Amino acid sequence: MTAFRSGFAAVVGRPNVGKSTLVNRIVGTKVSITSPRPNTTRSQVRGVLDRPDAQVVFVDTPGLHKPRTALGARMNESASSSLDDVDVVVAMVEATGPVGIGDRMVLSQSVRRVRSSAETEPALMVVVNKIDRVGANSVLTQLASVAEAVDSVEPAGGPPVPAEYFPVSAANGDGVAELVESIVTRLPEGPRYYPEGMVTDVAEAFWVADLVREELLRRVEDELPHSIACRVTEWEWPRVRCEILVERPSQKGIVIGRGGNVLKEVGTAVRRQMPDGAFLELFVRVERHWQQRDDALDRLGL
Ligand code: GDP
Ligand code: MG
Repeated sequence: MTAFRSGFAAVVGRPNVGKSTLVNRIVGTKVSITSPRPNTTRSQVRGVLDRPDAQVVFVDTPGLHKPRTALGARMNESASSSLDDVDVVVAMVEATGPVGIGDRMVLSQSVRRVRSSAETEPALMVVVNKIDRVGANSVLTQLASVAEAVDSVEPAGGPPVPAEYFPVSAANGDGVAELVESIVTRLPEGPRYYPEGMVTDVAEAFWVADLVREELLRRVEDELPHSIACRVTEWEWPRVRCEILVERPSQKGIVIGRGGNVLKEVGTAVRRQMPDGAFLELFVRVERHWQQRDDALDRLGL
């Protein structure tokens, strides 16, 4: 009989490279919301892959980016600290464009993390995602550029970084099984960290607030997303009350919609994804500059 393996894998990468899509695909359930807009994932979300022979806890992180607001700075901290104490670092870039400054920052942080570990060195898996959008030749070129970027992380000239490379499509699943197998073989022997069958440790309230935000993002125009925050203020099953914060009175009208239609649609869509019988109340509140204010961020749990 082979031993049970378990451990943690952090998924890092620039905003929008497909981290949440990958974690959702691997775990098989929607544990993290995805969106074509960057910075959809605001705090760490864990997805658990539970198999007869192994358990992998994936830590899906907000994308690393240049912070412009207090919220942005906290998101970066959260993403960087997720690299501590993991067994595997999954560093993700896209196949669809050149390896940019943001990607290099992610790669060098990942390489440094692997090099700096005193005892057990985490494995570094470099993922080139969205291969469904480019031809086979571009995938090869991109793999070469990414490897070049990994090998040139300062200080250069040391022992080569033991990274493995995976071309994948998180969207259609190509290459994902190979990645998962490699992750599992690199985990130490250990117990299940989460009960069998549990897919996420995100508190239900956060999950519902995130669903509300996701459904809203689908229905509003471009400037709004970064101004919206959602928070469950009461959870007395089956009654759940969720507050939607916006920054300006004009945004409030947009979120509510003509005759309340946007809010109604959002409520219906979210309820459909919640356990049966939920009674969901949505409220919109204007809170100026919440992204800049620490007290507001504390209350939102960001
Ligand atoms: P994150 O910010 O890194 O978590 O990125 P998301 O998982 O939210 O994905 C960002 C966008 O890229 C979404 O619109 C996804 O549908 C899209 N996406 C993710 N993975 C793939 C992929 O493999 N192929 C394609 N074509 N699109 C993808
Ligand atoms: Mg995400």
